[in-house]
Amino acid sequence: MEEKKHSLDFVRQIVADDLANGKNDGRVVTRFPPEPNGYLHIGHAKSICLNFGIAQEFNGVCHLRFDDTNPTKEDQEYIDSIIQDVHWLGFDWKDKLFYASDYFEQLYQYAVQLIKVGKAYVCDLSADEIRHNRGTLTQAGNESPYRKRSVEENLDLFERMRKGEFKEGEKVLRAKGDMTSPNVNMRDPVMYRILHAEHHRTGNKWCIYPMYDWAHGQSDSIEKITHSICTLEFENHRPLYDWFVEQLGIYHPQQIEFARLNLTHTVMSKRKLLELVEKKIVEGWDDPRVPTISGLRRRGFTPEAIRDFAQRIGVAKVDNVIEVELLEHCLREDLNKRALRVMAVLNPLKVIIDNYPDGQVEELDAVNNPEDSSAGTRKVPFSKEIYIEQDDFMENPPKDFFRLAPGREVRLRYAYFLKCESVVKDPATGDIKELHCTYDLASKGGNSPDGRKVKATIHWVSAGQAIDGEVRIFEQLFEQLDPLKDLGVNEDFISRVNPKSLTLLKGCKMEPALADAKVGVSYQFERLGYFSLDPVFAAQGKKMFNRSVSLKAAWVKDKKG
Ligand code: ATP
Ligand code: MG
Repeated sequence: MEEKKHSLDFVRQIVADDLANGKNDGRVVTRFPPEPNGYLHIGHAKSICLNFGIAQEFNGVCHLRFDDTNPTKEDQEYIDSIIQDVHWLGFDWKDKLFYASDYFEQLYQYAVQLIKVGKAYVCDLSADEIRHNRGTLTQAGNESPYRKRSVEENLDLFERMRKGEFKEGEKVLRAKGDMTSPNVNMRDPVMYRILHAEHHRTGNKWCIYPMYDWAHGQSDSIEKITHSICTLEFENHRPLYDWFVEQLGIYHPQQIEFARLNLTHTVMSKRKLLELVEKKIVEGWDDPRVPTISGLRRRGFTPEAIRDFAQRIGVAKVDNVIEVELLEHCLREDLNKRALRVMAVLNPLKVIIDNYPDGQVEELDAVNNPEDSSAGTRKVPFSKEIYIEQDDFMENPPKDFFRLAPGREVRLRYAYFLKCESVVKDPATGDIKELHCTYDLASKGGNSPDGRKVKATIHWVSAGQAIDGEVRIFEQLFEQLDPLKDLGVNEDFISRVNPKSLTLLKGCKMEPALADAKVGVSYQFERLGYFSLDPVFAAQGKKMFNRSVSLKAAWVKDKKG
């Protein structure tokens, strides 16, 4: 896929045109406005790259604003994780960190202003009654009987709502829109509800909380956001946001909607992710199988790969679904350039080289990264006993198997030609215990001494110097392209979780260079994929590697030589 660096997407085109026309006095101010009710996912990354990217490219600023208007669902843990994730992705808001809760007083005053001009009223209907009276797409709504309350009564009731005189659900503040509007969002939307809940920042100061639709546009206005970029589902909220700022006579940000990111084989909404976490289907928000930023980081994704992904998928106005393979491809491309190559054997089979001197250990030269000559070489120990991959040997190979078999010769990467002489089996079970082989001293470095050819090169680890480790291999969390599609009425999406999404391999043998592997550093295990230490297990002193992504031809699928 070609990178499209030169043509602007439609959002950037709007910003460029506005700048060219001198709009907003040449200011470009965007924002990323997460609700701290969950961890960020790859969809958010698209929005982060767009908003912070535009600010960078057009010499503007991007605010980070927490839309913390629902204390019952929000938590400091989420705020901390969001801050970490945005930084990790490589973006900086400088001193422009804001909270909608900082505007609670201002929002309250704006509401009073609307009441005073007869554009908002206190309504005693229940949530169910309000929903019922709202009408449908084809049917107008019914006006609330409380719509005709006087300004004085509304001011009094609203103040008493704030003081905590009413129970939850007893009263709400609603905008006086138009119950016959074809846009349901304009039909007297709720602006405030009563919640006797402690807020993670404002404590017990408030017992009325603004609805998202009331808080969001005004927060943008207070911060003088020039381009308020959001996903398409807010397109039909825009008339309401416009109406609010016009009624208030305050600064009017321009809202631009783009298509949200959807990804195959996964779920992305925070509600669904929370369900997976709470039901312990996954290890937490940072499980390497979920598409959260923290999950991707733990799995071994790099910020560079995610930013590259965001650039490749682009920004459009029409919803679509991106294949998760593109995300994996971006990681592969990035790691191919910089990951150090090492050898590790995941399912070891012992090989004894009968004609190799007893007790001898030699150091062979191995290339650290063929894509980057500055990465140099390293020494890899070789000795009489080595491990190879169980999969690389077959006692009775089919025609298309070219690796080791009785009487057959292969190349050991960076080492020698190796020929299988005999197979030792467990007499009780018949399982293969070890192979006896011979090597050809003249083939040192893996070079043919006399022009004879071998059809396969396999990786190996010297038994005496190998370090032990564990490896986790992941498959997609859902085998379905869209795990939510055609769900039966009583069917839970959780029942569709792929039972093979996680495979733990114990007793893996790794070359000694991995003894001081560091968290956050990726390695290519030759022929097997890209791996990195799991930070959670590493903190417990465990050498557990996650496979971040397979090599192009996945080893588990590819049985050929
Ligand atoms: P979800 O629907 O996944 O639970 P959300 O939209 O409720 O997420 P917010 O915290 O409100 O989460 O999102 C913050 C910003 O991220 C919003 O501006 C939203 O438009 C954007 N965003 C959320 N999901 C996606 C997505 N899949 N693709 C692109 N942008 C997204
Ligand atoms: Mg939202």
